[in-house]
Amino acid sequence: MLENVKQVILVLSGKGGVGKSTVSTQLSLTLKEKGFKVGLLDIDLCGPSVPYLLNLEDQNIHQSPEGWVPVYLDKEQKLGVMSIGFLLKSRNDAVVWRGPKKTSMIKQFLEDVYWQDLDYLIIDTPPGTSDEHITVMENLRQVPQCSAILVTTPQEVAIEDVRKEITFCRKTGIPIMGIIENMSGYECPTCSECTNIFSSGGGKSLAEISKIQYLGCIPIDPRVGALAGKGLAAIKELPECTTSKVFNELANKL
Ligand code: ADP
Repeated sequence: MLENVKQVILVLSGKGGVGKSTVSTQLSLTLKEKGFKVGLLDIDLCGPSVPYLLNLEDQNIHQSPEGWVPVYLDKEQKLGVMSIGFLLKSRNDAVVWRGPKKTSMIKQFLEDVYWQDLDYLIIDTPPGTSDEHITVMENLRQVPQCSAILVTTPQEVAIEDVRKEITFCRKTGIPIMGIIENMSGYECPTCSECTNIFSSGGGKSLAEISKIQYLGCIPIDPRVGALAGKGLAAIKELPECTTSKVFNELANKL
């Protein structure tokens, strides 16, 4: 049920492994820390990683007369999470479904989850432009406050795929809020010097060429990888650093 949601943000990427789930979870945690009510919906049916990233793997979702009740990360129920991962018996279970079954599951996720008044609903999507995306776009087109954040890494192959995401969003009528470049150089945790391991600045120049807002770059930061599985502690354990600054600035732009 999206009637009670003020703003929906889709997190998209052309490729897997570029940090889409990391951006979705860190952004959700940052918004929650700022006092907002946040929902995080993981519709990556074939690779749901949000329950793992937030240390919620042993949780189950429940049915109520109003619909599916999300799993809440905190007592105050400021951050609710919904993922196909909660419906699988184990992390190693695979979802082997054809398009129509995937479509109906996504529709259920969009229509039947009982989100109580949310400031933000962050949707972590699978990579690419598949059935899942088309279903989401069709259902969200009517939501007035809905936009997409595109995540890329600096390599040319990843940038090429983001171009396709831009075309997809433009064709389906979902406004693009901006592009974020992840794994943009390695920042030494001791001296903060940044080394560009891959090329850099690809996300920024694509944003300029495509006339899309550039939302910043996150360096490769071993602390980010180490946050996986820490749940609520993840935001508290990330010290003042470039990564936390980028998420703070991103949250302020929403
Ligand atoms: P996706 O959702 O695009 O498949 P993930 O968010 O799952 O990607 O990230 C893939 C892996 O890269 C994860 O192990 C994650 O912890 C790690 N990762 C993502 N961003 C960073 C970063 N900026 N620095 C270090 N590790 C990162």
